[in-house]
Amino acid sequence: MEHTVKKRPNDILLQSKDLYDYILKTSVYPREAAPLKQLRDATANHPLYFFGTAPDAGQLIAMLLKLTNAKKTIEIGVYTGYSLLLTALTIPEDGQITAIDVNRETYEIGLPIIQNAGVEHKINFFQSEALPVLDKLLEDGENDGSFDFAFVDADKGNYWNYHERLMKLVKVGGLLVYDNTLWGGTVALPEEAVLESKRVGREFTIQFNKLISEDPRIEVSHASVGDGITSCRRIS
Ligand code: SAM
Ligand code: CA
Repeated sequence: MEHTVKKRPNDILLQSKDLYDYILKTSVYPREAAPLKQLRDATANHPLYFFGTAPDAGQLIAMLLKLTNAKKTIEIGVYTGYSLLLTALTIPEDGQITAIDVNRETYEIGLPIIQNAGVEHKINFFQSEALPVLDKLLEDGENDGSFDFAFVDADKGNYWNYHERLMKLVKVGGLLVYDNTLWGGTVALPEEAVLESKRVGREFTIQFNKLISEDPRIEVSHASVGDGITSCRRIS
């Protein structure tokens, strides 16, 4: 079947668009579950379509979920739900996802597709700023170390605040995954070479990457997939 490459969710980091198209056409689109494609299509004309997790990054996240046998997960930053649906389709039937986003309207764009896919029962959606939800979870000691997996794809200025809280909620041996950690490649450019609109995010991302690289409680893999994906395995 022929798969066409239309709008892409994120800036691509690979030097050649042809190479990125090759990856999508060869390894990603032919294996993408039908509801995920529907969700991408439903998002394609939304003004913030580029928020959606890149499908090649999604494929990596699904692999990480499988490899860690993740059952109880937390997601910060849902938008229309590409990574959320991907997670719901990947974890077991009795798995649970705590999903947090300040915006319920965008979640509702993807919700009918999530419902049709028969996985809504795995999702507990909180319309809220993420920090208060994480702090509430931490008030109950039973939640400490109870999550297998976390995916963070929201406001970059809070990534370290999320990390500090998720390091308590995710179990030792569990995985914390952060999206957009190369910020369109701008982390390696001098500030003056970067568009004004990208500078604040670039600065947050550089600071976060430095803190992560110095955190002795985790093992790290920083992959140039999608817009940069940092996976942290909690070791203490
Ligand atoms: N993972 C999503 C996907 O695959 O489509 C994309 C998430 S999008 C890049 C970022 C989301 O984070 C937006 O929907 C935004 O409303 C949400 N967000 C931003 N700041 C937030 C905060 N402080 N707390 C919770 N959600 C937030
Ligand atoms: Ca993202």
